[in-house]
Amino acid sequence: MTEHVPPTPKQPPAGEADVIVVGAGPAGATTAFYLAQSGLDVLLLEKSRFPREKVCGDGLTPRAVKTLVNMGISVSEQDGWVRNKGLRVIGAGKRLELPWPELASYPGYGLVRTRHDLDETLARRAQQTGARLLEGVTVTGPVLDERTGRITGVVAKAADGGEDRNYRARVVVAADGNSSRLSVAMGLRKRDDRPLGVAVRTYYKTPRHDDDYLESWLDLWDGDRLLPGYGWIFGMGNGTSNVGLGLLNTSAAFGHTDYHALLRKWLEGMPAEWGYTEENRTQPIRGAALPMGFNRTPHYHQGLLLVGDAGGMVNPFNGEGIAYAMESGEILARTIVQALARSRRTETERVLAGYPHALNQAYGGYYALGRTFVKLIGKPTLMHFATKHSMGRPALMRFALKLLANLTDPRGDASDRLVNGLSRLAPNPE
Ligand SMILES: Cc1cc2nc3c(=O)[nH]c(=O)nc-3n(C[C@H](O)[C@H](O)[C@H](O)COP(=O)(O)OP(=O)(O)OC[C@H]3O[C@@H](n4cnc5c(N)ncnc54)[C@H](O)[C@@H]3O)c2cc1C
Repeated sequence: MTEHVPPTPKQPPAGEADVIVVGAGPAGATTAFYLAQSGLDVLLLEKSRFPREKVCGDGLTPRAVKTLVNMGISVSEQDGWVRNKGLRVIGAGKRLELPWPELASYPGYGLVRTRHDLDETLARRAQQTGARLLEGVTVTGPVLDERTGRITGVVAKAADGGEDRNYRARVVVAADGNSSRLSVAMGLRKRDDRPLGVAVRTYYKTPRHDDDYLESWLDLWDGDRLLPGYGWIFGMGNGTSNVGLGLLNTSAAFGHTDYHALLRKWLEGMPAEWGYTEENRTQPIRGAALPMGFNRTPHYHQGLLLVGDAGGMVNPFNGEGIAYAMESGEILARTIVQALARSRRTETERVLAGYPHALNQAYGGYYALGRTFVKLIGKPTLMHFATKHSMGRPALMRFALKLLANLTDPRGDASDRLVNGLSRLAPNPE
């Protein structure tokens, strides 16, 4: 009797896939993970090789923890994750420790992890699930259908200097971060009417490395001079703190500030025993932009779907981007899975065109509120007034934490309902 050999599933040619995802940061890796989990053939193209650095504060709120847990990633301390209990806010001469809220929807703790580790963990998770990750492959532009102008693939060059190569797919995802060259090549530029932050960060050897609170500085002082911007200090649990500061484009100082000098000025005022000095600095000071509040739209255009920083999805209230990159990756993957399961092209198109609406339902109202918030705090006098009058009121600050970190239950307590209600009522043009 001959042995029964199951038919091998038909493999597409190496340069073809159902979906191409450009960029394997948190947005791209998560999108690829959920697509592959649903059985689609996914090519995940990444210009760097893991592990690699990414300029970041490395802070993960309970929102981000939830997204990691959803992907089946172990977030235990044995696996190198460092937990935090909440946010310590420093401002107007006061310091307040605000534990993460107790909610049904989110865990009661946050994490820190270097992007060196986090991004590789996410990319490998996508790979384990079946996504085909190609590292060292830089996408240089779209392949377009000559007749319709629709994207049908991408051109990429390999890091080893090999020939340019075309990759083709039914849909293409731009997960290539803040500057999203692929979106720009498809005519999608950043919106000047939406918020943008710029931030710098570095690491210092310090005894404060195992701080179990994320620390946020609402006002930065040089002696009695108020400096523009907001700072953070996150203990990495490995002998160092990630220390950084940022400014919003709603602030008058934006665009003409020496960030390196600002960081040094701020740190000069810190207690010497914390060790935030030049000799303890372990990395260069590096900066990058934070694209906020949907600052690149539309999120679907001619076969190209934008996710994470490429679509400007950083939370304008607190500068958090990792959770939103991952959440939007899941929303996008579920849309694509439904779209590609439709038998007629017009139906597929109708489902893909619903992606911006799905994003708007998830974040539209909240981000609209956030855009108003950043306009207000861009005015130093107003920000200073707000800090001075809220820091002495712990209940108000607990509410502010829920609002700023977007951490509520749908049917939670009065403060949850107020945050949810405000987000629903905010004028939100799609
Ligand atoms: C200073 C600073 C501090 C921050 N701190 C925090 C924080 O503490 N917590 C938080 O949640 N968020 C923070 N953010 C925001 C966060 O870093 C981003 O929102 C997040 O990285 C977005 O993920 P992404 O996958 O969309 O983009 P990215 O992480 O930028 O990933 C994009 C990927 O695409 C790849 N790529 C780009 N171009 C190409 C190409 N042409 N071909 C192939 N691959 C390409 C890149 O190599 C990269 O791997 C911070 C940002 C900055 C600048």
